[in-house]
Amino acid sequence: MTVAAVIVAAGRGTRMGAGVPKQYRRLGGQMILTRTIRAVLAARSVDLVRVAIGGDARESYRQAVAGIDDPRLLAPVTGGDSRATSVRAALVSLEANAPDRVLIHDAARPFVPAGLVEALAAAGDAAIPAEPVVDALWRGTDGHADVPVPRDGLWRAQTPQAFPFAAILAAHRARTDAPAALDDAEIFRCAGHPVTLVAGAPGNFKITTEADLARAERIVARETRMEYRTGQGFDVHRFRDGDGVWLCGVRVPHRRALEGHSDADVGLHALADAIYGALAEGDIGRHFPPSDPRWRGAASHIFLSHAAGLVGARGGRIVNADLTLLAEAPRIAPHAPAMQARIAEILGIPADRISVKATTMEHMGFVGREEGIGCLATATVALPAAS
Ligand code: MG
Repeated sequence: MTVAAVIVAAGRGTRMGAGVPKQYRRLGGQMILTRTIRAVLAARSVDLVRVAIGGDARESYRQAVAGIDDPRLLAPVTGGDSRATSVRAALVSLEANAPDRVLIHDAARPFVPAGLVEALAAAGDAAIPAEPVVDALWRGTDGHADVPVPRDGLWRAQTPQAFPFAAILAAHRARTDAPAALDDAEIFRCAGHPVTLVAGAPGNFKITTEADLARAERIVARETRMEYRTGQGFDVHRFRDGDGVWLCGVRVPHRRALEGHSDADVGLHALADAIYGALAEGDIGRHFPPSDPRWRGAASHIFLSHAAGLVGARGGRIVNADLTLLAEAPRIAPHAPAMQARIAEILGIPADRISVKATTMEHMGFVGREEGIGCLATATVALPAAS
């Protein structure tokens, strides 16, 4: 018996407001869709996975599956305006190599347990996971509890919903008003077939609102043991003729400029090296070789963004950063708040996690002789523990 899974990721997730559809929002550093696909693939009885995506979501999808190397994951199919048309497009795409069973799953249910997927794959006929309603139910009128609704016999449906493939495809094709249908179980029942209720999983909730996302974040944080790593960076650039310096992403007027292959921003260089250091990923020179003409005159925020991107790619986050500029002149203090804000913006973290301070060298050494500017930086990152 072959079992396919269809994951419906074509919706816009409008209840979470404008912007990124919820399935592409990040949860503990990973896209929700990435977690959902991995959760379904964790069931060994699933032979194929087809994801239905929005027509404008190709790039987001590519990012979502970039780290998934599993031959069971097929290329995505473009869905439609409604859940039903998206499911139908995915089912039609599987028809040439029709599986025996298909499990249809919401992209926004990343916590589906592999055991539930296995149980639905093995269930004989059409089956949907559901939990009995335990709260009192009321029909409200104008903000008042009006009519009590008996909860006996009421169930809250989850996904995946499991069906014999040929029969659910035929049911979808027979249903011309499918966009109004509640879910695939309803479409199947309207074609005259019974649907069995099986026990759902309490944690298999659908991320619909910001409150759901916050709950999901708490669950992921509990499941993911983090470890903390600190790196340090140091950089120096020599003065040359000019009328200003770039320090921590801020242009500071000065009677000199700094010499360097890029914009010579010692602050951002030291900080990028601190983050690379925390990751044991070498330094800027390893990722952006000075011999490469592409980085001549480059704005240094690209180095810092790259370092921060490596943290995100590992499911980590930057906890804090602390920088000390070593400069006799120009005076740094008036510019420190702008530098703090700019670094926070590049890293995408709150400004109260960034510290920028400065010291002179009491006229001693190369800084004291105003031959150049240096910077010391430390950064702490939280990363999912390796084991
Ligand atoms: Mg440098």
